[in-house]
Amino acid sequence: MNSNHQITFHVSSTQVFACCPVCNQITHRVHSRYERTLRDLPCVDFCLTILLQVCKFFCRNEACKRCIFTERLPKVAVPWARKTIRFAEHLTSIGLALGGAAAARLSYQINYGSSRNTMLRSIAKLEPPPAPTPKILGVDDFAFQRGHHYGTILVDLEHHRTIALLPDRDAKTLVAWLEEHPGVEILSRDRSKTYKSAISEGAPNAIQVADRFHLLKNLQEVLEKVFHSNYPALKSVDAALLKSEVPEPHAPESNEKSKVPPDEQGPRSRAHRLNNYQQTHALKQQGY
Ligand SMILES: [Zn+2]
Repeated sequence: MNSNHQITFHVSSTQVFACCPVCNQITHRVHSRYERTLRDLPCVDFCLTILLQVCKFFCRNEACKRCIFTERLPKVAVPWARKTIRFAEHLTSIGLALGGAAAARLSYQINYGSSRNTMLRSIAKLEPPPAPTPKILGVDDFAFQRGHHYGTILVDLEHHRTIALLPDRDAKTLVAWLEEHPGVEILSRDRSKTYKSAISEGAPNAIQVADRFHLLKNLQEVLEKVFHSNYPALKSVDAALLKSEVPEPHAPESNEKSKVPPDEQGPRSRAHRLNNYQQTHALKQQGY
């Protein structure tokens, strides 16, 4: 820190009664006193610490499960905290503006003295602002750990904003979210039967559409199958078109190879692509 100067305030609470945090009953019976240490906003160039004497009270409600409790100071500090609320709010604001590492560097320069992790924790505690339920919602899965653990991502497709990450891709989780957020009119999804049934149950009035990515992916897969199964015919057409103008391409592949699915060809598929690549460059050099 810039300064080693320290101001310490010794403060005592003067409350003579308190409400039990469990049953809310008022009590005057003091059990004991104890001291809390709270970091507060720095004063000029001085770090400020408050040593705060607070009371512990007996709960007088015999039916209450809490026998003894510490008085609450909701405008000063939350229970168990080691910072005042206003100091914590300042740290959060700095963290939100700068992120963890830069916020920590600044905090040491201005005598706030908080680490990067403290900054990040203060941001992580924030409740996200309530977002209105989107009319057009995108649903897809994503990997927390590829091949092991997947979740569900929900995207507001009108505003291009992620609005929720669900912990798994089970139907019941999505059904619960949809039931808590009524009003979705159009749902874009992949062809997963799980999502289809979950949407039908959780948002039965919503229109379900296949999203563009999966439509194009499906189209690509089908076209690859069609072209691959007709490879010899396509090759002969290609050769006939080029015959009068360009050198004869390499020999057509055998029918046996053309029946092998693309994902099983491995090195042969790579050699085939490499051949195409070299042939393309050769044609380009000839002006095609
Ligand atoms: Zn109580």
